Amino acid sequence: MTDDARRRLPPVHELARDDLIERFGRARVTEAARAVLADARAQAGCGDAPEAGTLAQQLQARLQPQQLPAINATGVVLHTNLGRAPWSTRAIAAASEAAGYCTVELDTHGQRGRRGAEVEERICALTGAEAAVLVNNGAAAVLLCLRELARDRQVLVSRGELVEIGGGFRVPDVMAESGAKLIEVGTTNRTHLRDFERALSPDVAAILRVHHSNFRQVGFVAEASLRELCALGPPVVVDVGSGALFEIGDEPTVAAQLRDGATLVCFSGDKLLGGPQAGIIVGKAEVIDRMRKQPLLRALRPDKVTLAALGATVDDWLTGTTVPVRAMIEAPIEALRAAAQTWLEAMPAHVEAELLEVDGAIGGGSVPGQRWPSIALAIRTPNPIKLQAALRHQDPPVITRVHRDQLLLDPRTVAPLGQGDALVGALLDALEHA
Ligand SMILES: *Cc1c(COP(=O)(O)O)cnc(C)c1O
Repeated sequence: MTDDARRRLPPVHELARDDLIERFGRARVTEAARAVLADARAQAGCGDAPEAGTLAQQLQARLQPQQLPAINATGVVLHTNLGRAPWSTRAIAAASEAAGYCTVELDTHGQRGRRGAEVEERICALTGAEAAVLVNNGAAAVLLCLRELARDRQVLVSRGELVEIGGGFRVPDVMAESGAKLIEVGTTNRTHLRDFERALSPDVAAILRVHHSNFRQVGFVAEASLRELCALGPPVVVDVGSGALFEIGDEPTVAAQLRDGATLVCFSGDKLLGGPQAGIIVGKAEVIDRMRKQPLLRALRPDKVTLAALGATVDDWLTGTTVPVRAMIEAPIEALRAAAQTWLEAMPAHVEAELLEVDGAIGGGSVPGQRWPSIALAIRTPNPIKLQAALRHQDPPVITRVHRDQLLLDPRTVAPLGQGDALVGALLDALEHA
């Protein structure tokens, strides 16, 4: 009986259709088909072999690319799992142009030019920094700073700032990778200037300050000001994470950190700046010039496409063009309500839907713990998880939040990108099939 079920399974070459091979290549399709059939044989061993149609679907699902363009209806502007910042029009165009030959290391006189030099100049103009150097992400920026200033020497960090950001970024681990020796100062909730003073010694090469990014300390807490730390003597490295360039909540701005005396400030390109994944280090020219000679920099340097997109994003800021991240963060609540209202009106009569005031979040380690009120379309259904999954399987996938028995769709990360109609289409389809 079960042997019979096994015998009914199609051979690999039948399952691996020509159209699939054309699209994904023979090697991948054959391997995926073998894996689908192995699962099916195991299932047949228990008595029920899957239908041919089911097998074809399973194969298709295995071959489906994991990374697809998506609609972010979570309202979380800098959603790390969704690629953080959506780029500006100018950044997208610049990246696409840079994909061909481009003068990434050639200056206008035909001489060898330093990669990224001009983008660094623009970043200095934007932040008021003396110098800048670019790497692949924020983590690499911190690593390079510590390696330069404190390899085999001590770095002071407040115990309240030994944070984990997510995606494996933990301050003590990055410190260990850099070769610097971590000296913990103060306590989890209160670290005073005198704690740093007591820890000072000729072995101390730097002080590191880290933005809390994804949590907030309230209650009986204290920390030394950046100005005070900078007056102690050793160079101060500030990992601000998001790197605000405009007033947003109490997020520290890059320029303010430099004004307060930081030697180096690190931030990410794809958080509040709103550009590609990159790590930006700004600060004292003398230190940054030394950093450029580090062999490690060669391993961390960004590619031409990143440089082009980053340069274009900085141009947006310099010329007063609002990047999408900022437009979404600053979207007026009335505009969000109007967008959600349009979605609500498109819902069929039998769907139980309403507009709901929700607490959004900016994400990407920006303004932690701060409410970012929004208006969502809330759909009440006995099984919101099932509807959420159905939306994820749309083309393009729609990513949502679920709260209790409601599925929430937040226009903040949809409407400013002009994706409202696509979202409604996907929602109607998912409601029909979920
Ligand atoms: C986000 C963040 C990082 C990591 O930056 P990536 O660009 O994700 O590598 C490091 N430190 C802080 C404080 C952050 O918020």
